[in-house]
Amino acid sequence: MSCGGPHETPCHDVMHALVLFIDNELQDSGQVQALNIHFQECPPCKGTLEQEKAALSLLQSLLGRSCQEAAPEDLKAKIFAQTEELAAQMNLLYQNQMGAGQFGAGQFGTSQFFSEYTRTEITVDGVTQIIETSHEIRGDFSF
Ligand SMILES: [Zn+2]
Repeated sequence: MSCGGPHETPCHDVMHALVLFIDNELQDSGQVQALNIHFQECPPCKGTLEQEKAALSLLQSLLGRSCQEAAPEDLKAKIFAQTEELAAQMNLLYQNQMGAGQFGAGQFGTSQFFSEYTRTEITVDGVTQIIETSHEIRGDFSF
């Protein structure tokens, strides 16, 4: 876009250097001065400059905001409460397991248990080691 008037720096060159100009990355102070003069002389280029600046600062504020966004307090509280409840239930489960020796999903109503079992075989120098792990994960389905 051009205002049609004669400029020392052609509009094309101004648009080409626009992003660098906004980011203050132009090394040539003479070029920066020439661009500043051009923006004073040429409303269309000045308009484009303002638009680009606005778009850039909007983008920066959006990025900044999304990076700084913290979890809402009520969500934190909810997660904390659920963690506490789960810990209490795990504790209860553990006590039941120790006391009665047996337990089933039925005694906890709507709760479900997930068993996770892994078996890993590692052979080092002809000696095979078997590592077995298992743990119960309890989930409540109250919805
Ligand atoms: Zn221009």
